[in-house]
Amino acid sequence: MAEQFSGCLVCGKPLIYLEQPEEMVCSLCGARQESYAKCEDGHFICDACHMQKGLETIQSICLQSQSKNPIEIAQQIMAQPFIYLHGPEHHTLVGAVLLTACKNAGLDFSLAESLAEMEQRGKKIPGGVCGFNGCCGAAVSAGTFLSILMGATPLSGKDWGLCNLLTGKCLERIGILGGPRCCKRDSFTAILTAVDFLEEYLGIQLETNEKVVCSFSKENKECIHKKCPYFA
Ligand SMILES: [Zn+2]
Ligand SMILES: [Zn+2]
Repeated sequence: MAEQFSGCLVCGKPLIYLEQPEEMVCSLCGARQESYAKCEDGHFICDACHMQKGLETIQSICLQSQSKNPIEIAQQIMAQPFIYLHGPEHHTLVGAVLLTACKNAGLDFSLAESLAEMEQRGKKIPGGVCGFNGCCGAAVSAGTFLSILMGATPLSGKDWGLCNLLTGKCLERIGILGGPRCCKRDSFTAILTAVDFLEEYLGIQLETNEKVVCSFSKENKECIHKKCPYFA
């Protein structure tokens, strides 16, 4: 799998990390924001631009993918430069790769429309909601995926139940593994839980890797190593 890109997203030069944050001007939109990192040439990209580019990356890879394996699609997206190691773009990513794999497995719906809806709903799931609200955004993203797939609303009956049940099953597996948060571990867990759920409850068969291996452990200071089921 591709190494995660670590240079400047504007020019590719190495990043410099400061001891104290400095006010910087975004190279894309001109907004001012305090940050600890810039490239050797002084380029900096603000959080809003970074998020927008990350979401565009998710859309474009999903729309081009032919894969029925949501883990494979997720790993392809995670290797791209505008996807942070941890960040709320994972709240859109999980649902988007599940929608894409379902479409490629033969389900009949508009992928472009569903991905746009997934992005709108995913953007509303705040960063840090795992630790601050006891409800990991990767799990909510899986529940959001099923809600979009089934066209569920707060007034739905059986579908309402299934969406909440899926989120709950994801949270249970994520919670049992324990923290600190890792958006990669939590995303892989939510995706694998959804794959099992789709087969058990809806008879939808997706593909998965025999073993999911994470390639981000070295970059993640809080990696739980051998306690993580995806640790190489
Ligand atoms: Zn640069
Ligand atoms: Zn910006």
